Amino acid sequence: MGEITGPIVMKFGGTSVADADAIARVVGIVKAARVSSGLPPVVIVSAMSGVTDRLIELTHAAERRLDAHVLNGVAELSHRHFEALERLVPPELANDVLVEIGNHLDDLRALLKATGILRAASPGAHDAIVCAGELMSSRILAVALEHNGVPSAWVDARRAVVTDGAHTGAAPLADDTRAAVAREVIPRVAEGRVCVIGGFVGATPQGVTTTLGRGGSDYSAAIVGAALDSREIQIWTDVDGMLTADPRIVESPRVVPHLSFGEASELAYFGAKVLHPSTILPAVAKDIPVRILNSRRPQASGTTITAEPPAQDRPLAAVACKRRVTMVEITSTRMLMAHGFLRRVFEVFERFRTAVDVVTTSEVSVSVTVDDDARLEQIVEALREFAEVNVENGLAILCAVGDNLRSDPRIAARVVASLEGFPVRMVSQAASRRNVTIVLRDADVADGMEQLHEEFFGVVKGA
Ligand code: ADP
Ligand code: ASP
Ligand code: MG
Repeated sequence: MGEITGPIVMKFGGTSVADADAIARVVGIVKAARVSSGLPPVVIVSAMSGVTDRLIELTHAAERRLDAHVLNGVAELSHRHFEALERLVPPELANDVLVEIGNHLDDLRALLKATGILRAASPGAHDAIVCAGELMSSRILAVALEHNGVPSAWVDARRAVVTDGAHTGAAPLADDTRAAVAREVIPRVAEGRVCVIGGFVGATPQGVTTTLGRGGSDYSAAIVGAALDSREIQIWTDVDGMLTADPRIVESPRVVPHLSFGEASELAYFGAKVLHPSTILPAVAKDIPVRILNSRRPQASGTTITAEPPAQDRPLAAVACKRRVTMVEITSTRMLMAHGFLRRVFEVFERFRTAVDVVTTSEVSVSVTVDDDARLEQIVEALREFAEVNVENGLAILCAVGDNLRSDPRIAARVVASLEGFPVRMVSQAASRRNVTIVLRDADVADGMEQLHEEFFGVVKGA
């Protein structure tokens, strides 16, 4: 393992660069970090908020030959980016970037036109289309920094993050990325420049554009952080840190000041959208602390994620939920579970590359949940060759996470008891014993999360 002395990585999400005002706030945050830390930080940036969604929608529209809609959509994106650029930097400085953004938009129009002619976008075309959001936002941020007296360098993410060829959900190639970062990023850092790199985007060793999956800019930050042996990876977003529950469901969740790597991974996996589920892996590999911070309130201390275990007296870290999951109940057609039955069941899920989240077993059956039902029909057909299968839609997973669940069995009992009154379909404690997952109806998940949150994080009665 290299020494952890490299520059910090600062990642700014879509809402942190939504418009010129938000980008100006980011410039202020990066400028302050450059003054306070020895080496200039490396900045990873998402597309402006809503842009990736829009690019995906335009791809589908192109497939349906809604040509006028597609052209209007690109014109709107062009207007939004040029307007932000004009508001942030004077024309003489904007010129080169205007040309570069114009080139990205020309490519985008050509790709969408080809999509219309073919009436389909291949996964590779999809990635070449959606990468435009991050390529444009990163160019704007780089020039805005420069204009504000921060020497910067735009780095093409496709030259810095090397991945396999699994379009729309590519995996990084660590050694190649390390070499690419050493070539593209480190010399500029050594010159005192802040490198600005679009998140979410990478390329294969042959240079074919790929993306890391939705929300993947967090992952980019961790991949680049690991390649740089960063001292710290900062995820700047629109909330004060990892909260004790999803703020879109629970009214006033609290900030969790510290999480262990294991807790953060589990929360991200089970739906805490503030962190992409793969983000923690590269950080763990290098033991790099990750911080979640609010770009609207940079003074707030946020959440720090490290290998340190939590304090003994904190029963849970937080609760999270995964919505719209499907349960598959698989019953052995023999009376008892035959030898090899479970193996055959899991082989089917593996064959159709579908991850299962929660598993429970009884003497004659096994129940699993999946959140990706794209290949469910084929899975059910394959399972029916040797089992009875029952599928139930419209469910959700509620997950309570905390390292102290391992040492104190009363906590798990309290989690389950707090959901009294809700028709619970499955209850399971992970092998890591760091979480308790409860499967219930999606319609009940908001109330269930409120009740569970109140039990562990509510105001202490009588206090
Ligand atoms: P960004 O654009 O910065 O990547 P995201 O929208 O991907 O931001 O993630 C931040 C959002 O995650 C928050 O606005 C919040 O609604 C949602 N979220 C869900 N669960 C949690 C949680 N436990 N803690 C904090 N935020 C959460
Ligand atoms: N822009 C990408 C998305 O919206 C990646 C990210 O923002 O993390 O999914
Ligand atoms: Mg995100």
